[in-house]
Amino acid sequence: MDPNAYTYQKMMSDISDLKEQYDFLLVSDIGKSVLGKSLPVIKLGEGSNKIIYNASHHAREWITTPLLIKFLEEFCHSFAKQKPLYGYDTSEVFQNSRLAFIPMVNPDGVDLSINGLSPDDSFRHELLEMNNHLSDFTYWKANIRGVDLNRNYNAKWDKCRAIELCEDISTGCPLGFVGDCPESEPETQALIAFTRNFDPNMVLAFHACGEEIYWNFDNLAPEISLEIANEFALISGYSLINPNIAALSYAGYKDWFIQEFRRPGFTIEVGKDTSPVPLSEFDEIVDKNIRIILCAATY
Ligand SMILES: [Zn+2]
Repeated sequence: MDPNAYTYQKMMSDISDLKEQYDFLLVSDIGKSVLGKSLPVIKLGEGSNKIIYNASHHAREWITTPLLIKFLEEFCHSFAKQKPLYGYDTSEVFQNSRLAFIPMVNPDGVDLSINGLSPDDSFRHELLEMNNHLSDFTYWKANIRGVDLNRNYNAKWDKCRAIELCEDISTGCPLGFVGDCPESEPETQALIAFTRNFDPNMVLAFHACGEEIYWNFDNLAPEISLEIANEFALISGYSLINPNIAALSYAGYKDWFIQEFRRPGFTIEVGKDTSPVPLSEFDEIVDKNIRIILCAATY
């Protein structure tokens, strides 16, 4: 797989290649984006330890999508050849766990960040308006309607909106707008419905950047969350987020999950200090995060 400029089309093509090669993968979708792209989910494993991994809530953080696809490639290869992966027995993981991957929560935004506007974009006029009439969308984080999907969940959403109103953010824009109400967007609605239905023991949401791990929300995380976060930090070299900064995050997917399920939920910020993350960091990101993904699957 080639992680460079990893658009929705590239992901769909890699998923279909994987499915063709490994028939134990279950591929379906959890719903559709604003522009009608189906949001794929890939499931593997037969056990009761259920985990959801998702990536690219934020458009410019699209490097997290090839990370999950690369993990699937490595896992399937290891499982088919009965060879360990980073010291883990993948047959054992397959037997004990059921893993669900939603590798691109925001496909419309990812394609916009990578390709920019195309002449037939239905939201062309609105997008230019929201982007201060600049044609460069590289740094765009929101979905195609200018809603920040990781501020659209019903977890202290009102507080998040009040802060934004003080900062003069009240309509669609490249990053930070919470939406007109919680769960206003089809992408967040789809992920919420899938999560409730799958009923996972743990969730991991991949973002970029900072090499940091968020593990709590409003002091509602179970005790074991800190233990798991410390384990992730140990094997990856990432840091646990400073509690003062963590206290300022609201309305994200892991926030909502911790609030509703009171089970471990994490945001993993991959990559050093620039977003979009330079592709030169990809191999190191894969190396560190395959360990985190496997560690989560065997906890
Ligand atoms: Zn993010």
